[in-house]
Amino acid sequence: MYIPGNMYFTTTRAHQELNGGTFVDVIIDEAHDPRREDVPFKGNVDLKKYAALIDRVGPSKIPYISVAVTVNMAGGQPVSMQNLREVKRLSEKHGIKVIFDATRCVENAYFIKKREAGYGDKSIAEIVKEMFSYADGCTMSGKKDGIVNMGGFLAVNDEELYRQASALVVLFEGMPSYGGMTGRDMEAFARGLRESMDYAYIRHRVEQVAAFGARLDELGVPIVKPVGGHAVFIDAKAFLPHLTQDQLPAQALAAAIYEHSGVRSMERGIVSAGRDREGRDYRPQLELVRLAVPRRVYTMAHLEYAATSIAELYERRSEIRGLQWVYEPPVLRFFTGRFKRI
Ligand SMILES: *Cc1c(COP(=O)(O)O)cnc(C)c1O
Repeated sequence: MYIPGNMYFTTTRAHQELNGGTFVDVIIDEAHDPRREDVPFKGNVDLKKYAALIDRVGPSKIPYISVAVTVNMAGGQPVSMQNLREVKRLSEKHGIKVIFDATRCVENAYFIKKREAGYGDKSIAEIVKEMFSYADGCTMSGKKDGIVNMGGFLAVNDEELYRQASALVVLFEGMPSYGGMTGRDMEAFARGLRESMDYAYIRHRVEQVAAFGARLDELGVPIVKPVGGHAVFIDAKAFLPHLTQDQLPAQALAAAIYEHSGVRSMERGIVSAGRDREGRDYRPQLELVRLAVPRRVYTMAHLEYAATSIAELYERRSEIRGLQWVYEPPVLRFFTGRFKRI
């Protein structure tokens, strides 16, 4: 089976592969270019790439298309309503399900409201509802737009699929009525979903991230543009042009930022991309360091500290050396891998 998606996500692709599937990237080309600032919906599915895959392998080999709203690995980039509509139309024609990774669906809705014609006067909840009218199901991590510390869910609009999934839940998580979550966590999640639709909240959230990105940009630090919904992504290739991809530039930069400032970031490059079935490194075009901003935690003073200390490091960037592996775990190696300085 093949699972097309608008750029891979680490754990999502690991589960697709664990179940024997092959992920195929069908995001628009511009998403792989950190400097393409002029694309308002850099997370969009490239319908030509998707149609070409359907032609090549046949619709019976594609159980669903995985659509991330927004696209984490591209820098938190949104998908337009028009694109979601067109993906649904093409999928329906071939009997392929559309499954959202809804982790950041509220941020995506905010971008639609701000950037897409016809949505400026709609509420966030109305936009989210229309987005999901083009899906057959979704997975959602509550730790992001759900504004909670733990939990997530799978939702489908197909009774038979629901039954099959429920059988797996009983095996791995617990009763379908709680799926491994405590009652307290489910209550918090339900409240978080409601609060996340509040325009004042989501505007503050996305605009705070935008202001952080603008500050880094002003200080000359190379970042992915436009800035996405949940994080500012530093372009590690541009920050450390003296390192090759095998010297793990984004991991080296994340470590250097931590040493210099105490700010914890996350590698999103060759380390996160992992290896294919033959054991070869995936070689992503993007080597990024993610500065994710937790919701309702930081003031602009915290972010100013992060921005200025990273700018200080940028002044001394030629001193930053590459890294090599000391311990590489067999799967999802970015979570628990260990490195040393070359
Ligand atoms: C965090 C995240 C996940 C995984 O969620 P967990 O709750 O950590 O398992 C899946 N998809 C995206 C886009 C994410 O950002």
